[in-house]
Amino acid sequence: MKYYNINKTDEVLDFKQAAIKGLGTNKGLFVPERIPTLEPSFFDKIETMSNVEIGVEVMRPYVGDIFSEEELTQIISETVPFDFPVHTLNNQQNILELFHGPTMAFKDVGARFMARCFGHFAHEKHQQVNILVATSGDTGSAVAQGFYKVSGVNVIILFPKGKVSDFQEYQMTSLGKNITAVEIDGTFDDCQAFVKKAFLNKELNHKFNLSSANSINVARFLPQMLYYFFAYKQLKQQLKGKEWVVSVPSGNLGNITAGLYAQRMGLPIARFVASNNDNKTFYQYLKTGEYLAQKSVTTYSNAMDVGDPSNFDRIVNLYKNNVAALTHNISGAHITDSEVVKEIKKIYAENKYVIDPHCAVGLIGLQQNSQDENEVGTVLATASPYKFIPVIQKAIPTFPFDKNKGAIKEVKMHKYSISNSFVEYEKILEKVLG
Ligand SMILES: *Cc1c(COP(=O)(O)O)cnc(C)c1O
Repeated sequence: MKYYNINKTDEVLDFKQAAIKGLGTNKGLFVPERIPTLEPSFFDKIETMSNVEIGVEVMRPYVGDIFSEEELTQIISETVPFDFPVHTLNNQQNILELFHGPTMAFKDVGARFMARCFGHFAHEKHQQVNILVATSGDTGSAVAQGFYKVSGVNVIILFPKGKVSDFQEYQMTSLGKNITAVEIDGTFDDCQAFVKKAFLNKELNHKFNLSSANSINVARFLPQMLYYFFAYKQLKQQLKGKEWVVSVPSGNLGNITAGLYAQRMGLPIARFVASNNDNKTFYQYLKTGEYLAQKSVTTYSNAMDVGDPSNFDRIVNLYKNNVAALTHNISGAHITDSEVVKEIKKIYAENKYVIDPHCAVGLIGLQQNSQDENEVGTVLATASPYKFIPVIQKAIPTFPFDKNKGAIKEVKMHKYSISNSFVEYEKILEKVLG
């Protein structure tokens, strides 16, 4: 499989090169030159396959001959060693729980897959790879946990000071070894801008062999397709004769893009709902056909506080700029924090089931976009409610949280603190990698 740069279509690389490069020339994202389709026989027997078998089938065409069958099987089995259960709310709504990995949020899968790919690459070349990542919380913790102690790979994580949860900060700053955490006095968009700027700096890039771990990286974004297949495997019987709608709580749009790819591969998803919080750039685009990046604003569903979603170009590319076709397949939703609190409360009252703020955004988005009785809707629960105890307690004051779950242990945490200055960021890179 070849990958090309959306902004410079003659820049064509294989999976390994595209993964190492991260972002292409002119800030272009890499996309596969075609989306392979799976045989009907795959879908006929999917419920009899293990998650690892499904993962290997789905990912094989994308990695080509970069890995042997054995290596790919090994990578996938280390990527998805936990469960992806579906929780049924009622006949028409269910929730795919994507938070059973080490950081209790869905980004574990992409980070683990990418980490293991990079471990292979570094090992082959006997060369250190340095990964830069910007995070609003979940990416950083998933990448930190995913790459921890993978030999040959250094990770430097940049996050906005005071805007990630204590638990996320703990997961990024407590590991040490090949993981370095840096907080800046700014927003997530500032973090993302610094990382992009570092990549565009030829000198830095050359000196440090830089690579990215944001959801723009093909090695992170593609394995997210697996969630949708794992959901289908569990729901196949129930979906017979029904239309399947999937609502994705969306920030940088990596997860929903992966879903769109899964659909193109043949997975029978009828349509998607992209559910936004107050960071509603994509929602506005779906309404008006015009893309206007916004400044990010802080919400309860903070992993989606993204004003200029980085995977937008991949979605537009998928539809060859045909806005009508795109909006036919994807509906938007915009959900506020107060609606989120009400929804968490309501779902708990009705089902004795606790959802996190991101899932609440997705669930309301699904409800607002339900069209008829014949539909079955799945919401991706992208994080565990245990990561958002203060919000849950606002909604359900009586909920008896098990204090040991999600608790922060007393360990030494280390981070660098810098002002909102690229020069200072560069100094840290020199210090840690130089
Ligand atoms: C990252 C994240 C999202 C948003 O996913 P994108 O791929 O950036 O759209 C949603 N929920 C949680 C919990 C996340 O960590």
